[in-house]
Amino acid sequence: MFNSLSDRLTATFKNLRGKGRLSEADVDGTVREIRRALLDADVAVPVVREFVAQVKERALGEEVSTSLNPGQQIVKIVNDELVRILGGQTRRLNLAKVPPTVIMLAGLQGAGKTTLAGKLAKHLKSQGHTPLLVACDLQRPNAVKQLQVNGERAGVPVFAPHPGVSSEFEASTGDPVAVARDGIAEAKTKLHDIVIVDTAGRLGVDTEMMEQAADIRAAINPDEVLFVIDAMIGQDAVNTAQAFNDGVNFTGVVLTKLDGDARGGAALSVASVTGKPVMFASTGENLDDFEIFHPDRMASRILD
Ligand code: GDP
Repeated sequence: MFNSLSDRLTATFKNLRGKGRLSEADVDGTVREIRRALLDADVAVPVVREFVAQVKERALGEEVSTSLNPGQQIVKIVNDELVRILGGQTRRLNLAKVPPTVIMLAGLQGAGKTTLAGKLAKHLKSQGHTPLLVACDLQRPNAVKQLQVNGERAGVPVFAPHPGVSSEFEASTGDPVAVARDGIAEAKTKLHDIVIVDTAGRLGVDTEMMEQAADIRAAINPDEVLFVIDAMIGQDAVNTAQAFNDGVNFTGVVLTKLDGDARGGAALSVASVTGKPVMFASTGENLDDFEIFHPDRMASRILD
């Protein structure tokens, strides 16, 4: 992911190497190249516009550093801008003062929510937490089973009532809002300090799905709502993110499938367009293919 963007930006900066003071024409040419590279990588147009305006303003401004040559200075400015559009500082999970902390996952079907639920549970367990996974994706036939498999792999229990299996929670079977509520009650009883609630997605944004997600959110009042987005979906990422932001007012973003070779710029735009930070990244199908997202490290990776 981001390879072609990375190559393009690096090539642009190469042209500045060895230059003394940059003329306005140098800056204009460079900014034009940066704009093209970002657009070609699918970065959303408003994000590109703001990005290049900032770069130009700072590059032409009085920012003269004694330790950096002009080329290095532009690289630093672009780096700072990349960090900014990715959400600035690394954002940690907001943990509830009184446990359990409730984390709800939302996103389109196939985005990687159920996989992410297992990854997050494993990660949190390794940090000394005692998570409980709650299976509220009752839409996709295999989702509950898949979460159970992931839970088993992560060594984390899964709350997933089935008819005749869970007598205590039988009433909630089939109703994701009730399952979510009962899952949290279960976590309180069994002293889990974190609850991860997996919800249903559809192939596209639709009103019914969004209402269901909004109902779950209203019923469980989560400490975090993580919007899970497949970085491979390209330009649709921004519209989808906006729809989910309107629908469930998410608190953070998880980018998945960063191991793919798509251009990825749309995914890079999601934080900027919604004003919500990217918090985690998913980089493969295994439970360990998971990273805490550091905007500064991602920017360095792109500019390396
Ligand atoms: P959900 O419908 O949102 O719950 O999505 P799933 O968790 O079922 O994921 C959909 C598909 O994407 C599955 O085949 C996963 O194995 C795969 N997947 C999930 N995350 C990643 C990732 O980061 N990289 C890759 N390559 N595949 C992933």
